[in-house]
Amino acid sequence: MQPYYTLIGVLIALLVGLAIGKAWERYKLIEGRWIDRRRVRQAPHFILGLNYLVANQVDAAIEELEKASAIDPGALEVKLVLGNLYREKGQVGRAVAEHQALLQRPRLNRIEHANVLLCLGLDYRRGGFIDRATTAFSEVLKLDPENEAALANLEKLQEEQHQWQEAYVTRQRLASLAGPPEQPRSQAILAFLEHEIGLQALKQHQLTSAAERFLAAIELDRLVVPAYLHLGDVREQQHDEAAAIKVWETMIEVAPERAYLAFDRLERAFRAIGAPDRFEALCHRLIQSTPRDWRARVAFAAHLTTRGEAAKALEIVFEALEHNPHALAIHQAIWNTLEALHLPSHLVARYVEITRTSVFYMDPHLCTRCRYRSTELLWQCPHCHEWNTFVEERITPATDNDSELPAVTD
Ligand SMILES: [Zn+2]
Repeated sequence: MQPYYTLIGVLIALLVGLAIGKAWERYKLIEGRWIDRRRVRQAPHFILGLNYLVANQVDAAIEELEKASAIDPGALEVKLVLGNLYREKGQVGRAVAEHQALLQRPRLNRIEHANVLLCLGLDYRRGGFIDRATTAFSEVLKLDPENEAALANLEKLQEEQHQWQEAYVTRQRLASLAGPPEQPRSQAILAFLEHEIGLQALKQHQLTSAAERFLAAIELDRLVVPAYLHLGDVREQQHDEAAAIKVWETMIEVAPERAYLAFDRLERAFRAIGAPDRFEALCHRLIQSTPRDWRARVAFAAHLTTRGEAAKALEIVFEALEHNPHALAIHQAIWNTLEALHLPSHLVARYVEITRTSVFYMDPHLCTRCRYRSTELLWQCPHCHEWNTFVEERITPATDNDSELPAVTD
């Protein structure tokens, strides 16, 4: 009989073990509460919350995710997302509290810990707590050195504080992680950061080191226009006008659409070396290669006016107006030129007639990433913080055979 009881005992133990196993699979003790995992899976709140999120209904998403979180308080991802949603709604304090509570949890693994810290860092950044955000992202990187989101956020924080050298190192880490597909973009960003480091040196009159930085920026990305402008400035301060002219002319070759940024500089340098005619030749070249280049026309007109040839200048700015009737800068050039001509009434009347239906705009520069508008060309967008995203917007370009403008005579 003894073996028989033993067998029964073993079977019972096995069944009890199975039952406990099943119960454990279904129920779980989380934060002092037994949670029915099957109920968690069947509850629609999580999926509904995600659906609302996709539909951009943040309040409804929060409501469903809060219900999902109440059923399963242990689900880390739900809490993380909820905190992020509070932050997006501007409830930064609540987001911080939510994410800080998660940090207190025992048994977070390394990656979970890094994710919570990342969210906390984003909360701090949103709330304007720069130091705390920097610390949080740095801690993420100690736990997970390849965390690209932490690196990207850290870089933006460093840029905002003009810590260009630090931002440069962070971007280098990002570039090596992202690999070849992202390389051109990273090279361009590194070039702009290199240029900023050079500008800092220039402000402190460290001309040699500034020039080295600008050259390095151009080496990284030959389209980094401001590096040419400021390298030329360094050469000019070193009294080497010829070298300055060479740098600025190279810039115009690689980025002719930005040529106007060097106009004042080149006009001044050509005058300094006793060759003012070279400016006129440059404007002619630009107008010929890009007939729509109204800036070259306006610059040329200003140059002619200072030489006492205002009548010829007016003819040229009227031409510019054909190509870009909305640009306020052209109208300002016309006002100056008309004034220099002592406001001849027939030309003033004609000009008033042309502009009766014109629309002017002051902020034609547009960020292609976030649509931020600016009156001047910016190298980094103050809204989305992206580098080199501004283009100049044209409303309705006039047709090239538009010829209702007056001929100018003395
Ligand atoms: Zn932007």
